[in-house]
Amino acid sequence: MKSTHSIPLSSLLISLICFTSCETKTKENELVGIPSKPNIVLIFADDMGYGDLGVYGATEWKTPNLDQLAKDGVRFTQFYVPHAVCSASRAALLTGTYANRLEIFGALDHTAKHGLNPEETTIAEMLRANGYSTGMVGKWHLGHHDPFLPTAQGFDSYYGLPYSNDMWPHHPEAKNYYPPLPLYRNTAVIDTLDDQSMLTTNYTEEAIKFIEESKDKPFFLYLAHSMTHVPLYVSDKFKGKSEQGLYGDVMMEVDWSVGQVREKIEELGLAENTLIIFTSDNGPWLSYGGHSGLTGGLREGKGTSWDGGIREPGIFVWPNHFPAGKVEEQAAMTIDILPTLAEITGSNLPDLPIDGRSILPMLEGKEMESKPYFAYYNRNELQAVIYGKWKLVLPHAYRSIPEGTTMRNDGIPVKYHMLNLEKAALFDLGKDPNETTDVAGSNPEILTRLKQFADEARADMGDALTKSEGAGLRKAGRVE
Ligand code: MG
Repeated sequence: MKSTHSIPLSSLLISLICFTSCETKTKENELVGIPSKPNIVLIFADDMGYGDLGVYGATEWKTPNLDQLAKDGVRFTQFYVPHAVCSASRAALLTGTYANRLEIFGALDHTAKHGLNPEETTIAEMLRANGYSTGMVGKWHLGHHDPFLPTAQGFDSYYGLPYSNDMWPHHPEAKNYYPPLPLYRNTAVIDTLDDQSMLTTNYTEEAIKFIEESKDKPFFLYLAHSMTHVPLYVSDKFKGKSEQGLYGDVMMEVDWSVGQVREKIEELGLAENTLIIFTSDNGPWLSYGGHSGLTGGLREGKGTSWDGGIREPGIFVWPNHFPAGKVEEQAAMTIDILPTLAEITGSNLPDLPIDGRSILPMLEGKEMESKPYFAYYNRNELQAVIYGKWKLVLPHAYRSIPEGTTMRNDGIPVKYHMLNLEKAALFDLGKDPNETTDVAGSNPEILTRLKQFADEARADMGDALTKSEGAGLRKAGRVE
């Protein structure tokens, strides 16, 4: 059932289910004849791997709230980010557009003079224009100068860190480089952090406060946890809880946070009218050893275009709209979230072209054609393309941990070395999700097709590896 085109039935459902706050909403919607506008809660973890949730195979620690979330909705087994690094992944999520197209690469730090161009339309701007209250809690990482902050990019309110939580004076490898880590409320620095033990708890409380304050109007909450990115911190209530070390404790606290948010939504009678999405920005930062997450066996991790870097948990829950307990095996990507929300809420798409497509049919359990290729860029290098179950990895250099390295468990990383993939390799992710066996030789037609997709991506967005110029590139925003 598509909410945007089934007003009477969805309204009926909502009025049957909700008694207080959402009754007002339903009446308003009926009065002006607009489609139902569910609340949207987008929870984005940091450096959490595909295998970090119980429902995705983790047995090391327990994630009961995330597992329940998956049981109540649609869980993707091939859900991707287009870039395996923080800023780029976030730009793509919030704009529905490949970040390299927007000139956002890597992870911006305190010296960056650029950020997400204010000319781009974020999910928050799109939904605010359609009557939503918009709040952000957590890690931003799309520019820390005023014109790029969340409150300048569609969010009514903001509480959190402007960039990564390791960009601080205690960085294990960059002493005396970073200034004190600022904590923002809207556009003001309200504190600098010397300890992050309360970060997940504080984000959770702020998120809950936003939900309470916004309950009488459609709202969009973007809760971007700083955890499980290093340095790992937990509050006292989760210290030692997993019995598996600090990473497990941190996982359990993020899981707790998801449970707290859901509990509040249920307590306010908003559950049936709230769409919750959970995913992460990139795979585990493997060089941190015991302080990094689990890929579930996928190849490599953060910072690479192998599936360990780009495949993420992807969970979508909207009771009575999306089937419960559905496992979706078709590929989708974070750039699809913006256009999906546009369709669900009846919001206008951005004026500038975007790269994602609505996956609403998939979420409703209907057939949908495979997207004609997903592109994977690391900075401006086209490193891979995926079409359905097929992945073409293009010749490139990537970081890896040298065999025989003794991994650490104290928050200090080991050194990567660079490996070269000399020749394009084709993988059948359906049979070989860990990308072990190149099947290019036995699939010449698929290989040709994916090479054509790569050429299309290059013509559009360029490629430093083949020195291709892209015709469809845009600019980041800059300050003097
Ligand atoms: Mg990250």
